[in-house]
Amino acid sequence: MTEPRQAPTHTPMSQFRSAGGELLVNAQPISRIAARVGHTPFYAYDRSLLDARVAQLRAALPAAVKLHYAMKANPMPALVCHMARLVDGIDVASAGELLVALNAGADPQEISFAGPGKTEAELHQAVAAGILVNVESFREVPILAAAQQALGLPARVAVRVNPDFELKSSGMKMGGGPKQFGVDAEQVPELLAEIGRAGLAFEGFHLFAGSQNLKPESIVEAQQKSFALACRLAEHAPSPVRFLNLGGGFGIPYFPGEQPLDLAPIGANLADIVEQAKTALPQAEIVIELGRYFVGEAGLYIARVLDKKVSRGLTYLVTDGGLHHHLSASGNFGQVIRKNYPAAIANRMDAATTEAVSVVGPLCTPLDLLADRMSLPAAEPGDLVAIYQSGAYGATASPQRFLGHPGVVEVLV
Ligand SMILES: *Cc1c(COP(=O)(O)O)cnc(C)c1O
Repeated sequence: MTEPRQAPTHTPMSQFRSAGGELLVNAQPISRIAARVGHTPFYAYDRSLLDARVAQLRAALPAAVKLHYAMKANPMPALVCHMARLVDGIDVASAGELLVALNAGADPQEISFAGPGKTEAELHQAVAAGILVNVESFREVPILAAAQQALGLPARVAVRVNPDFELKSSGMKMGGGPKQFGVDAEQVPELLAEIGRAGLAFEGFHLFAGSQNLKPESIVEAQQKSFALACRLAEHAPSPVRFLNLGGGFGIPYFPGEQPLDLAPIGANLADIVEQAKTALPQAEIVIELGRYFVGEAGLYIARVLDKKVSRGLTYLVTDGGLHHHLSASGNFGQVIRKNYPAAIANRMDAATTEAVSVVGPLCTPLDLLADRMSLPAAEPGDLVAIYQSGAYGATASPQRFLGHPGVVEVLV
């Protein structure tokens, strides 16, 4: 017999309520949402949870700290539109995202653009749009100077610094050591001199150390070190620092044993930084940029069970959804050891968990695994499987063309 190999993660995630055995998304039963979408699979994002998350951050962090949404976590246009009204700015990472952010009504003054390989065309588009470019290479300076000249508009820039430290306990490190992101801290004085000579409109610094961190003490440490580094580099700046993006990296719990991030120490530390900035960088607006933390817990991926079959003692629920829509949940997007995302049978929320099953997709690869030997209520073809924590790096980070199945629909409820 097959024993569940992993701790059961069927426990419904508490941010989504249920009623009458049905999982609710912003008070609507999941079967009804499935009926109005017209087919499965789909992603459903809950507006009330997005609102609540922003409110929770506003309550925990000092009012002077601006919140930016890093839209690469979820670029669905309607969701970006919703977020643009809630937060103070949008961070984009391509001209494609810039288009969505501008269409969503985001104020160009509060849009910033990061990325290690911006094309000449993208840099010109950024200057034309009037957004802030996070400069990540010496190469970008003459291109921005030419764009400024050609368009008769200021090229607004911040320097993205690759710091001389790493974000400890981060799921994905994006700063410290050799990195393709930003300019090494020790080269920044020279870059600032070039920005000054080129006459670009210098506004400040951007530091981003990493992603998916659940340890407040390491986020606090990274923010302190980032602030200290920015203060040192500011001495070389051609004009006062008006913008200081300290990154983010706030994680969400995915796996058994992970606890939600405690915002209190982060808020206290940021309050301290805001105080210090009053004398050290008096004109600077302090920004943090978050993707996953804003949207990750507000989203579900819903697939329908097509078949239930037993292979040598292990029961498989074969669904119409899989890694082509949700690479992250399959464990193939940055996980070292595959672990199950929390899941539920969304139309049997009141049933006892009686079966250890593997939930798989329709693709011809063993990687197409949404839940590995998880304890779930007994499910039948026609039932709906919900994968929680699916609001970030879901549809957007998945190879939707792989094997030629239909693309996934996204709904904002
Ligand atoms: C990916 C990225 C983010 C968002 O990271 P999350 O872990 O989703 O919060 C923010 N800023 C930059 C520069 C990024 O590359």
